[in-house]
Amino acid sequence: MFVISNIVLLPKPKGESIVQSLDILIQNPNLAPSLKDIAQKVKDGIRITFDEGVYLYEHAELSYLGVLANYIREKKHGDLTYFNRNFHIEPTNICVYDCKFCSYSRMIKQREEGWEMEVDGMIDILKKYDDEPVTEVHITGGVVPKQNLDFYASFFRKAKAHRPDLHIKALTPVEYYYIFKKAKLSHYDGMKYLKEAGLDSMPGGGAEIFHPEVREKIAHDKCNAEQWLDIHEQAHTLGMRSNATMLYGHIEQFWHRVDHMERLRQLQDKTGGFQAFIPLKFRNQNNQMSDVAEVSVVEDLRNYAIARIYLDNFEHIKAYWAMISRETAQLSLNFGVDDIDGTLDDTTKIYSMAGAEEQTPAMSTKELVDLIRNVKRKPIERDTLYNVVTDYTDHVFEDEVKPSYYKLPVVNS
Ligand code: SF4
Repeated sequence: MFVISNIVLLPKPKGESIVQSLDILIQNPNLAPSLKDIAQKVKDGIRITFDEGVYLYEHAELSYLGVLANYIREKKHGDLTYFNRNFHIEPTNICVYDCKFCSYSRMIKQREEGWEMEVDGMIDILKKYDDEPVTEVHITGGVVPKQNLDFYASFFRKAKAHRPDLHIKALTPVEYYYIFKKAKLSHYDGMKYLKEAGLDSMPGGGAEIFHPEVREKIAHDKCNAEQWLDIHEQAHTLGMRSNATMLYGHIEQFWHRVDHMERLRQLQDKTGGFQAFIPLKFRNQNNQMSDVAEVSVVEDLRNYAIARIYLDNFEHIKAYWAMISRETAQLSLNFGVDDIDGTLDDTTKIYSMAGAEEQTPAMSTKELVDLIRNVKRKPIERDTLYNVVTDYTDHVFEDEVKPSYYKLPVVNS
């Protein structure tokens, strides 16, 4: 049982199927007709509309959303819950841009407060994992002129030469837009060049909120929605997969969130190249929006659930445990989430600098597996492309006591 302030959420009822739960909801005479229609659509596998998405944000209660989102989650994945073994490299925290919500970057004029790595320094970090069973390096950071097309092409080539099996998931359209413009390359040609250098896929960052009404207030000088979406489209055209994020819970309205997801849903219909959607909670420490209150955990869970319902063509909904806390990550598994990211190994500063609960984010594989098992889900280690690496459902770790029958001491009378 989990307690969030005064709200108690029970794990899903044992023995009750997801179909039964949804039927009970649909037959509830007190349910508003619009909510009943949406629930029926979910049961019939029919896509909900833009207006229905907004309606859910405005009117649906957490418990209702949980039933719908969990129905979709379990139809797609059952109890399977994915994670991977990864580490981050953040080449710089200096940035030419000025996003108001950013707690991470130092502007060029404050560069003495930041770090700026060289290619060899990044390779040295990679080499630290030579004997570790990690499958992915996740690379993201700020945008600086020196870290240009040649810089990244050189890093990707050296990284692949050193460890060909390590999947390189690197940079976002924010970096690529800047790099390609400077190199006078089209988005397609730029992505093709970097793919040939060793880039495997793209993380989902930099999306924030697409609608210009919000984007111009919080991230006015970096790539816009059309440029972000186009770079993903070109990557998909080249056969690469990518993720998509949404920064929620600041100055946006509910319809801005639906507009954001609608644009992603449309591109996904066209290319099918997105793997996971990752809602990112706005955190208000150490940035220019510190006066904006953060949303509650209940709103986090509502948002995961609505994303699961709205994005019917996305296979996975991911929660970053390092950003929302381990407990909320566990809860999210009942609200549409089927992936809780990776071990991280304390290699990212992005979440901690924004005020996340995890100040040194790292979990061993066993800790991640336990976290998932403790809420009765099945832990699956995946690679970046969601191929199963290890099914930990019945795995016994070396230092774990194997469940078995023990002889009880017999007291002779
Ligand atoms: S969010 Fe990214 S692009 Fe914006 S200032 Fe921070 S590091 Fe730079």
